[in-house]
Amino acid sequence: AKWVYSFGDGAAEGRAGDKNLLGGKGANLAEMCSLGLPVPPGFTVTTELCSYYYTHGQSYPPELKGQVEDALAKVGEIAGRRFGDKNKLLLVSVRSGARASMPGMMDTVLNLGLNDDTVEALAQDASDERFAWDSYRRFIQMYSDVVLGVDHEHFEEILEDQKARLGVDLDTEIKAADWKKIVGLYKAKVEEELGQPFPQDPQEQLWGAIGAVFSSWMNARAITYRRLHDIPESWGTAVNVQAMVFGNMGETSATGVAFTRNPSTGEKALYGEFLVNAQGEDVVAGIRTPQNITEEARIAAGSDQPSLQKVMPDAFNEFVRIADVLEQHYRDMQDLEFTIERGKLWMLQTRSGKRTAKAALKTAVEMASEGLITQEEAVARIDPASLDQLLHPTIDPSAERNVVAVGLPASPGAATGEIVFTSDEAEDLKKQGRKVVLVRVETSPEDIHGMHASEGILTTRGGMTSHAAVVARGMGKPCVSGAGTLRVDARAGTMSVMGQTFKKGDIITIDGSNGQVLKGAVPMLQPELSGDFAAIMEWADKIRRMKVRTNAETPADARMARSFGAEGIGLCRTEHMFFDEDRIIAVREMILSDTEEGRRKALAKLLPMQRADFLDLFEIMAGLPVTIRLLDPPLHEFLPKTEEEIAEVAAAMGVEPDKLRHRTEELHEFNPMLGHRGCRLAVSYPEIAEMQARAIFEAAVESARKTGKPIVPEVMVPLVGLVAELDYVKARIDQVAKDVIAEAYMPIDYLVGTMIELPRAALQADKVAEKAEFFSFGTNDLTQTTFGISRDDAAGFLETYRQKGIIEQDPFVSIDVDGVGELVRIAAEKGRRTRGDIKLGICGEHGGDPASIRFCEEVGLDYVSCSPFRVPIARLAAAQAAV
Ligand code: ADP
Ligand code: MG
Ligand code: MG
Repeated sequence: AKWVYSFGDGAAEGRAGDKNLLGGKGANLAEMCSLGLPVPPGFTVTTELCSYYYTHGQSYPPELKGQVEDALAKVGEIAGRRFGDKNKLLLVSVRSGARASMPGMMDTVLNLGLNDDTVEALAQDASDERFAWDSYRRFIQMYSDVVLGVDHEHFEEILEDQKARLGVDLDTEIKAADWKKIVGLYKAKVEEELGQPFPQDPQEQLWGAIGAVFSSWMNARAITYRRLHDIPESWGTAVNVQAMVFGNMGETSATGVAFTRNPSTGEKALYGEFLVNAQGEDVVAGIRTPQNITEEARIAAGSDQPSLQKVMPDAFNEFVRIADVLEQHYRDMQDLEFTIERGKLWMLQTRSGKRTAKAALKTAVEMASEGLITQEEAVARIDPASLDQLLHPTIDPSAERNVVAVGLPASPGAATGEIVFTSDEAEDLKKQGRKVVLVRVETSPEDIHGMHASEGILTTRGGMTSHAAVVARGMGKPCVSGAGTLRVDARAGTMSVMGQTFKKGDIITIDGSNGQVLKGAVPMLQPELSGDFAAIMEWADKIRRMKVRTNAETPADARMARSFGAEGIGLCRTEHMFFDEDRIIAVREMILSDTEEGRRKALAKLLPMQRADFLDLFEIMAGLPVTIRLLDPPLHEFLPKTEEEIAEVAAAMGVEPDKLRHRTEELHEFNPMLGHRGCRLAVSYPEIAEMQARAIFEAAVESARKTGKPIVPEVMVPLVGLVAELDYVKARIDQVAKDVIAEAYMPIDYLVGTMIELPRAALQADKVAEKAEFFSFGTNDLTQTTFGISRDDAAGFLETYRQKGIIEQDPFVSIDVDGVGELVRIAAEKGRRTRGDIKLGICGEHGGDPASIRFCEEVGLDYVSCSPFRVPIARLAAAQAAV
């Protein structure tokens, strides 16, 4: 088998497309060679050999040695040198290179092939003793560290000692004789640590380094990284062996890194850094301050260190040309590594550059305008999830950060405000026009109003799927959860951390994008929704097939969603309208009366309020579809809890508090998620559904009269399992519609449909579709009922499941395609069989998750619906799913 692929002198056995076989670095080195760019010759040992190595008890196939020898000889021929030969000394670097760049893999070893003998030859060959000994000391340190396992700190200590002794600050000031001495000390240290001298045989050095690369594939750091990034173990890594070129040959040599465009802003300008008389990672190691590549960047940075453009104009011009060639060739922003040896430029790496969300937008839009890529490609290049960062205020990157604690980045964006410890305080201060951050150990459904009133939420307990995190993301509010080092004493009104105490009213800032908690206010940057963002969105809208709606029940959310491009409401949760202060008493009155008459009396008070709610939403949506879900949660969620509240409701109803207490107990449920909720309420108390239907239809009439843009309300019956349930409730709704139409002398169009959120409904979807004019997949409940897991209780063990590899993904974050998805598929198919034009949508949180949106496209849903802040993400993800 062929295990080794050569490159050099304008030709290569591999190509950019061979990343699986040659790793990213090797494939791109080969490609650059074939493009005729100046690349030091070398060869790549394939990822397949890595697999062989692990399946054969960490050994190599017999033919490998010969292939490596041949390839090495070829490298020598091109370079006019020979490995291990003092007369024409060839030195190489050994570089690891997986398919995807992967921290945790073996670091690169440079100057391999040096020993006590060859170092003298190198000095003579280059007529530069200092250079030779500088290279040798680097080699000993790198090789000992990454191959022999001698901690690099030993060497740094020695170097620091010697610098102090010599009275110099910079490595570049150390002279040949002193490097020679330092090399002696390094070698002694290695022998002391290992009980063996530093290996002198170049062949032994080479095979040692190759083995170390393969071994590092299975080191703990690499394994962890692969697990976190879903990289299969079977991929393996490649090894690149390449002729050395030297950036440390004095003042006409240099090494550097650059991006073809600015990776933080996306601006089209070569951006990078270099160091004169340096090697390898010196630029990023922070030993000396690197210099700017271009004059323009130097001036912008206010640096007095000359640019590459100034000090090596020829090499610079060549570099500018090559950067352009590579960007045009790869049709993407490139991240480049180069070395200049005595004025001659060599390219050592190219790859697509990592960039911020903002830069990703800018480069994609500009490259499409330049004609380098198509609009479809531009849309495909943006990670939908990254848009989240752009929709919220963020901390000015140049701002000083006084970090007091770090939790989980639960919901993106940054927020500043006064600390409050209760939701009521949050609401009170908000009414006074103050900005607050709600700080709690954890949040519960009773904190919704406080969360609404806050700029951001900080909790000391709970993970990425805790109540605070989920609700905050839904509201589009920044949230840091699980900041465990904070101690919150809500009674005393204090929060303390590491000896600092914060009181209620003190200002803090949270950064929900990285989990930081900061002291005081910090300068912010406001989101920029025009320009590049708008361009990408416009292109995405041209490409996508599915509509994107929003989940919203307040006018503020509905308006925001419209501004983000929502094309209607896919889920209006009417119960959220029941919690408002002006109506909760009437709601409680309705629930607690034990007669239908009593309930109707209370419902009559609610009707005008509900009607006004819907009217608002209909006007904002101006003719777009609006799906309204009838009351869904179990009634006891609305019940008075404190004695004070009970007394208040009792007074309003004119009954004894004791009677109320008794009724409250009656309504208690052991398992509310599976209890008396959804359409079961409408079956037990049809008058509730009737009131809601009347409010909907009357609002539809009124808004049509006012705006001239009739809404077609979609009345949605939740938690249907039996078609008979839907039949019963629908009959009531239709009757109300008939009444309202007669009263108004005005026809209204409306649809009645159901949520599919119980497995039975999915399996019986053909029957259900006889009555339902639309299905909306409520995949939150469908996930709960399919798995038999309650979401509120699942956070703890689902994380354990993930860690133990039993599940890959939290099914509440990304839809479980095999199980829950199968039910969706079945229901969609059966529904269509009965009713060809049945409208299909999704309104669970999955509606804003890019992977789930891809699934929705596959199943052919008509729309997805998600929280307002996820609308742009869904628009983009739907476009990507459509191509
Ligand atoms: P990483 O994957 O960590 O970037 P590389 O294999 O790219 O590691 O090596 C790091 C640096 O080492 C390169 O950027 C380059 O400066 C230097 N280097 C690697 N190989 C050579 C070589 N053959 N000649 C000169 N410098 C090299
Ligand atoms: Mg590199
Ligand atoms: Mg539900």
